[in-house]
Amino acid sequence: KLAGALLLVVVVSVGLMAYLMNVSTSSEFRQYASQRDERYAEDVASVLASFYERDHIWTDLDELLSNLLRSTSDRLVVADSGGLVVGDTDNGWVGETATDVGLTGGTAIVASGEEVGDVYLYSSFTRGGSGHGYGGGSQQSSVSNEQDFLDRVNRWLAVVAIIAAVIALALGGILMWQITRPVKTLAIGARQVAQGNLAYRVDIRSKDELGDLGRSFNTMAANLQQAELERRRMIADITHELRTPLTVIDGTVDGIQDGVFPPDKEHLDAIKEQTALLARLTADLRDLSTAESGQLKLQLAATDMIDLIRRKLPTFAVPAKEKGIELASALPQDAPRIEVDADRMEQVLGNLMTNAIRHTPPGGKITVSARVIDRDTVHGIDGPNLVVSVADTGEGISPEHLPHVFDRFYRVEESRSRGEGGAGLGLAIVKQMSEVHGGRVWVESELGKGSTFHVALPVKNHSL
Ligand code: ADP
Repeated sequence: KLAGALLLVVVVSVGLMAYLMNVSTSSEFRQYASQRDERYAEDVASVLASFYERDHIWTDLDELLSNLLRSTSDRLVVADSGGLVVGDTDNGWVGETATDVGLTGGTAIVASGEEVGDVYLYSSFTRGGSGHGYGGGSQQSSVSNEQDFLDRVNRWLAVVAIIAAVIALALGGILMWQITRPVKTLAIGARQVAQGNLAYRVDIRSKDELGDLGRSFNTMAANLQQAELERRRMIADITHELRTPLTVIDGTVDGIQDGVFPPDKEHLDAIKEQTALLARLTADLRDLSTAESGQLKLQLAATDMIDLIRRKLPTFAVPAKEKGIELASALPQDAPRIEVDADRMEQVLGNLMTNAIRHTPPGGKITVSARVIDRDTVHGIDGPNLVVSVADTGEGISPEHLPHVFDRFYRVEESRSRGEGGAGLGLAIVKQMSEVHGGRVWVESELGKGSTFHVALPVKNHSL
């Protein structure tokens, strides 16, 4: 397609240029030749005038006329004042009337202030153009020097046009190759990726738009590869998380069926516990995926978060007390109401509190606080936000794990091996739920000293 377009452009532009050059050269040259003819005719007329002045008669003109001829392709015809042809270098029209043979536009021969005749120049080149030639048809066929010259010029023009076209095509071909090669590379890349070869990368190094396209393509392929990797990892994680409770349930039921375990409360409780775990896991996964896909329906209402925290905190008093952990709060007297889904906020607070209790040893302390901030560029907060923080004096999180604790299924290895804790979804849910409210989450932690999780939620003006 590109090659066709290039060919068309080259042929049309070179052809048009050659044609216009031809037309303008011809017309310029004709004008030049006609002016020259005009001067020549005037010269001839003045020579003829002096000739006439000698005897006042038009006889024996032939020799003079043939001497006056510039070239054999010209023809000079002289008519007397009565319009009778008295001289003709071709001898054909002598004795005829000028109007009968169609002679027009002659140059007047003026002798002693009187018009004594006309001279007509017939030049094959300016035929019909300058007013010095015959108006009528002619037997003249020999090509004049001028026509010859013009033909040569036009031949050169054609040669130059062909050379120009060949050079343009060659240059265009190189340019096109530079365009089509990366396009072809990209097409191959796109096919490879479409066929599932997500590791395929294109090699386009140019610094132009095509290079940009190549880099964008590679970024896209890398993102797809990453997304595919995450999808697989997630399926593996989910399968893994489902397998553990299912194995426990299956084993216990088998034991009861085989009579190894009595079907008593203890074993039924064990099964119940695992089904509760499965139920929570599936609920968490559903919440996460609906929030991530933006399909979570929030029941937004102006909510007093301080009040919500105060109501929710006592539910953690019992597990905290059981573990010998002190629960404290540092809440402002009043804070602006914010547009949130109260149930989701309870879920966020619940997950943070459960984690804090789980990771704080006996004798530790958990403090829940809240404050309003105006901006925090480090965490991308611009405008008033209510920041709720849960600080504990627990085991802390090492710097290598810290950036990942909000990831799905991410668990710090020790807690996994100890067999305690959830599926690694708690903090991912905290993050997702905060973000669907337009909020931000972050954590500060020092190994062995404790961790503080922060949730910032935007305060909108209308709810102030
Ligand atoms: P899980 O449901 O397994 O607790 P989370 O997403 O809630 O998963 O937490 C991810 C990881 O972050 C956990 O494995 C845990 O080790 C770590 N973590 C979470 N909260 C705390 C905390 N308050 N103190 C120390 N580590 C924590």
